[in-house]
Amino acid sequence: MPFPARCVQIDPFLGRYYTNRSAESIAEELAVHRFNGVQMIITRDSRVHREVLNALRKRKIHVDYTTFGNGAYDTHDLPDGWQEWRMVTRQPMNDGYTRLCLNHPEYRRWKKRQIAAVLRQYPFDGVHIMEPFWPEYPGPTAPAYACLCERCRSLFAQRYQGEQPPEFHDESHPRFWRKQPELYAKWVEFRAQSHTDFLNDLLNGAGGIRKTHPRLPVTVWILAIDAPDPVRFVREVHGQDIAEVGRQVRPDAVCLQTHWPDWIQANLAPDYVRAYQPLVQAARAVRPDLPMMVQADIGSQPQNRRSWQWIEAFREACRSIGVQSTTLYEYMLGMYIYDDPPKAVKATRESRNTVLLVFNKRLDAQSAGEKGRYTFVPSLEINRIEVDGNLVRLYTAPMHARRRYRLTIQNVSDDPSARWLPDTPALTLSKQTVTI
Ligand SMILES: [Zn+2]
Repeated sequence: MPFPARCVQIDPFLGRYYTNRSAESIAEELAVHRFNGVQMIITRDSRVHREVLNALRKRKIHVDYTTFGNGAYDTHDLPDGWQEWRMVTRQPMNDGYTRLCLNHPEYRRWKKRQIAAVLRQYPFDGVHIMEPFWPEYPGPTAPAYACLCERCRSLFAQRYQGEQPPEFHDESHPRFWRKQPELYAKWVEFRAQSHTDFLNDLLNGAGGIRKTHPRLPVTVWILAIDAPDPVRFVREVHGQDIAEVGRQVRPDAVCLQTHWPDWIQANLAPDYVRAYQPLVQAARAVRPDLPMMVQADIGSQPQNRRSWQWIEAFREACRSIGVQSTTLYEYMLGMYIYDDPPKAVKATRESRNTVLLVFNKRLDAQSAGEKGRYTFVPSLEINRIEVDGNLVRLYTAPMHARRRYRLTIQNVSDDPSARWLPDTPALTLSKQTVTI
């Protein structure tokens, strides 16, 4: 299958948008927006939405198992003793994310087993290793800067003839990182090598994805940021050396993840990705044919919700820097869910007495389920209506096979209670006529 160009991320367990509706309706909604790839975010490997996966694949949509590299939002599946794997951050963190040390051999072994087990159980088309970076922006002053665990310290000392890593707390310490540029440079190198080694192990090591599932394409995520030298910045701050990852790990594709200082901006121009061109060049310098994609955040915060128009301009800007594929976090966070009124985008006869309407978004089941909202010309009696997410099935009196019917839909609303943020009122389709 060619590398899918129009992708989107979904987490079927996030919020209410995907609940109380069929997997078919979720897949059909993504299909009518012409997505051909879905990165399904799995926060808990023991809870994969198989029906949604199957419904997407039935529509020829490529589905990637998308797993976090540097930790977990959900510790449910972690085995006894996992606490030993935790990264040591510069300050204790309590932000709902459990960071796990890329240098811990038990974490690596477990992660490889987990990935292999999920890929054995579910028919995914590919794998995305999302966020394998070392934390955190803007660098050593960040409270979450890591990893300063004993294992990382001793590995550093082994590599550099007994030297101790820089000090990151005490400014008066002789090894304080700002005072010791050579030592700090070694530390930056150490983090970058550790990060590359971690990915190399997950993909190419014993029990890695290439050994257990050699046919599945693996995409590795690298952070991207609008900085004077983004290649150097993500290497220094996050230990992500895009050229070395390309050279040593040989992923099937690289996804550039828009870093939060960029995506949080309310008025971010959709061509902001032009600032990421040096990262594209650095990757292609070692792998000229490397498939690449850019991930944009389209609404994690109220001020950064993006419209379809913005998304189309973003895709165009990606093509202009030589990146053919895009993905979006997360489908139901986009501005269109808050701004676009419902609209029927497909109307088909499923049988002599069934009409299927596919809408652009999830509907309010009450208004969409009322017979008075639908009028056929020539007249046709509606016996029953089923509303399922963005799908409406009208069970009618028998239709004439050769006759065309005009169906007028009026006053059908969407469902604000299913939105991520309940800050905007329902939107209503005032009147639309379709031919069936
Ligand atoms: Zn560590």
